[in-house]
Amino acid sequence: MKAKTLKNENQTFNLEVGVEKLYHIGEFYTKKLKKLGIFKAKDLLLHFPSKYNDLSQVVPIIEARPGKSATFKGKIVSISSRRAKNRKMIITEAIISDDTSTLKAIFFNQPFLTRFLKIGDRIIIAGKIDYKPYWGKYLANPVYEKTVYPLSPNLGRIVPIYPETHGVSSKWLRSRIKSLLKFSNQLTDPLPLEIKDSLDLIDYDEAIRQIHFPDFQDSLKAAVRRLAFDELFFISLQTETLRNKFYSFRSSKIKFDEKKVVSFIKNLPFKLTLAQRRSAWEIIKDLDNNHPMNRLLNGDVGSGKTIVAVIAAFCIYLNDKQTALMAPTEVLALQHYQNFVKFFKNYDLKIELLTKSFHFFPQKKNISKVKNKYLTSDIIIGTHALIQKGIKFNDLALAIIDEQHRFGVKQRAQLKKKNSKKGKTPHLLSMTATPIPRTLTLSLYGDLDISILDEYPNNNRQKIKTYLVPPSKRNKAYDFVKTEVNKGRQVFVICPLIEKKNKDYFDSFFDFDNRKAATEVYKKFKNSIFPEFKIGLLHGKMKAEDKERIMNKFKENKFNILVSTSVVEVGVDIPNATVMIIEGAERFGLSQLHQFRGRVGRGQFKSYCFLFTESWQNEIKERLKVITSTNDGFKIAEADLKLRGPGEIYGEKQHGIANLRFASLFDYKLIKEAKIQAQSLIKKDPSLKSWPELLTKLKEFEKETHLE
Ligand code: ADP
Ligand code: MG
Repeated sequence: MKAKTLKNENQTFNLEVGVEKLYHIGEFYTKKLKKLGIFKAKDLLLHFPSKYNDLSQVVPIIEARPGKSATFKGKIVSISSRRAKNRKMIITEAIISDDTSTLKAIFFNQPFLTRFLKIGDRIIIAGKIDYKPYWGKYLANPVYEKTVYPLSPNLGRIVPIYPETHGVSSKWLRSRIKSLLKFSNQLTDPLPLEIKDSLDLIDYDEAIRQIHFPDFQDSLKAAVRRLAFDELFFISLQTETLRNKFYSFRSSKIKFDEKKVVSFIKNLPFKLTLAQRRSAWEIIKDLDNNHPMNRLLNGDVGSGKTIVAVIAAFCIYLNDKQTALMAPTEVLALQHYQNFVKFFKNYDLKIELLTKSFHFFPQKKNISKVKNKYLTSDIIIGTHALIQKGIKFNDLALAIIDEQHRFGVKQRAQLKKKNSKKGKTPHLLSMTATPIPRTLTLSLYGDLDISILDEYPNNNRQKIKTYLVPPSKRNKAYDFVKTEVNKGRQVFVICPLIEKKNKDYFDSFFDFDNRKAATEVYKKFKNSIFPEFKIGLLHGKMKAEDKERIMNKFKENKFNILVSTSVVEVGVDIPNATVMIIEGAERFGLSQLHQFRGRVGRGQFKSYCFLFTESWQNEIKERLKVITSTNDGFKIAEADLKLRGPGEIYGEKQHGIANLRFASLFDYKLIKEAKIQAQSLIKKDPSLKSWPELLTKLKEFEKETHLE
C-alpha cells in the first residue's frame, strides 16, 4: 500500500506543499504537471475529471452479450502468447473464469503481458464483448487490473477521466489524486452551515472526494450540485456586492413631471407598446431616488429601445439636468443625434454631438474647443470620446449606454469624476446589442435591474425571410440581388474577413477564402458580377472618417451594394436596404447573424437575408437553421448560449464565466437559490466578515474574475 504520500514521512502533511515533494513525483512529472496548471498538492485535488467511465456494474460472466460493454471480475485460468499467422502481431489469449462461466480476453501486441498476468491471478477486466465464429465470445484489448488492492481506482467503479497532457495519463493521475484524498478535509469549506442545511448541500471535502471517485451516480450528482452551487453563489456574492456598492453612491433625485411627460408621449408619431410603457415607468421610478439607477434595457433589434431612452432624457431635462448618451460607433452616435433632434423639435432643448473626430453644436467645431470646459447642453450624444480626458459635464444626471451589455465599474467611476462639479453619480441606463437570456440576467448580470422589451412595435416592420443558400444556388441569389437593385433597393454583403488569408490549403484550393474576404468580394462584384452597380467597401481597418463617409454615402443611396465586415453590426438604420447577404455564415455566432439581419427590413419593403455557407457539415447546417426558423432574438440568444457557451458571446474575462466548471447557465432554480442566499448573507452582514472562510474564497474568486 502506498500509505506514504510525502517523500519525507516525518513531516506533517500539508496540501500547500509543492507537487515535487510528493511520493512518486520527480522532476519529470513536476514539469509535466505545471502544464496542467498543477503546482501544489492542493492543485492536484482541484484537478477535476472532465468525464467519467462508469465501470461500476460488475456483471457475472454468464451474462456477457456480444456488442455490450461490461466489467467482469474473475480468476485467470490460462494465459499464453503466440504470433499471428502473418507473423507481424503478437496475440495474447487469457481465459477468465468466475463462478458462473468463462470468458476469453484477447490482447494484441502486448508481449509483456504473460510476465505480468499469471494463472491464478484475480483480475477485474472491462471492455466491449465481441464475437467471431473462430474465437467465440471475447473481449478485445480490454482494460484490466489485478485486484491485489481491495479497491482499484481504475476499474469496478465510476472511473474519472482527467484532462491529460503528454506523459501524464488519467491512470497516473488517479493514483496520485487518490492518495491525497484523505487530506481533503484540509480544504476549508467556504459555505456557511445554514446554507448547506437549507439547500441540502453536501460538505466541500465530501464533494471533492465524490467528484474524483464517486461511490454512486447519485453521489456524483450531489457533488456536482454542491460545486455548481458554489460557483453560482460566488458570482452572486460578487454581483450583489457590486449592486450594494453602486447603490451607496448619491445621485440626483429626478422628479416626475407627469403632465409634461404624458403630453410629450401623446405627441410622438406613434403609440408606445405596452413593454415600452412599462420600461419607461420602471426607469422613471428609479430616477426619482437619491441612489443611482443601474438598469439594463433588454430588447431585441427593432424593439424600440431608443424612444425609452428619449423619455428618460426628457425627464432629466425637465429637472434642469444633463443626459449623456454613448454609442459604440460614430455612425450610430450620429444617427441617435438626428433622431433626438427630431423627437425634440418642439422643445427648447440643446443637443450636442461629440465624437473623436468631430464635435457638432450646432455646427461642426474642433473638439479641442470643448476640452476642459464644462459642457452645458441638455443632451450630449457621442462615442467613447465622451469619457475621454478633459471632457466635463456641468450636471450630468443620467448616462445612457447604447448597444453594449455592460458598463464597467471603472467607466462608472470615470463618469462620476466627469461630474466633479456636483460630485454626484449619474443614473445609468444600459441598452443591449443582443437580448440576454433570463438566467444570465439573473446570474452574470445580477447587479443590474432589468427592463425587458419583449414586444415589437407595430410599425410595418417586415418579417425578414431568411434562407440558407447552398453553393449551387449562389448565382440565383445574385440574380435576386439584381432584381432588387433594379427596383431601387440596396443590399448589404457581410464577410467574416477583411483580406484573404489563404493559410488553409484546403480553403484556398476551393477559393473559399476569396469569398470570405471583403476586399476580394468587393473587387469581384465591381469587376465581374455587378459591373453596372455602384459598390461600396467598409471594414475595420479604415479610418473613422472614411467609415463615416462610406456609411453616409450608403445611407444617401449613393451605393447600391455595400460590402462590409462586421463593423456594420450595430443598430444602423437604412430603410431602403432589403437584402442582407452573409458570406461564410458559419463563422459568425447566431446572435451576431441575427444582428446583421436586423440591418434590413427597417422600411416599408419586404426584406431578405441570405446565409451563404460552403460547409457541408450537418452540425453547422443545424446551427444556422435556428436563424432561418425564428426571428425571436431571445430564442436565438439562448440557442447561441447553449451551442457556443457564454464566454464566446459575452466575453469570458469580464464575467468569470470561464470558471464555470459545474454550473449550468440554464439551471434557473439553482441560479435563483444562489442569488437569494447571497442576498440574505449580505443583508445580515454586508462586509461578509462574519464568514472568514467565505471571504477568503471570494477574494480568490475575484482575483480570477473582474466583473468589469
Ligand atoms: P432598437 O431597439 O433596435 O434600438 P429603435 O429604437 O431603433 O430599435 O426602433 C426601431 C424603429 O421602430 C425606429 O424607427 C423607431 O422609430 C420605431 N418605433 C419605436 N417604437 C415604436 C412604436 N411604439 N410604434 C411604432 N414604431 C416604433
Ligand atoms: Mg438601437
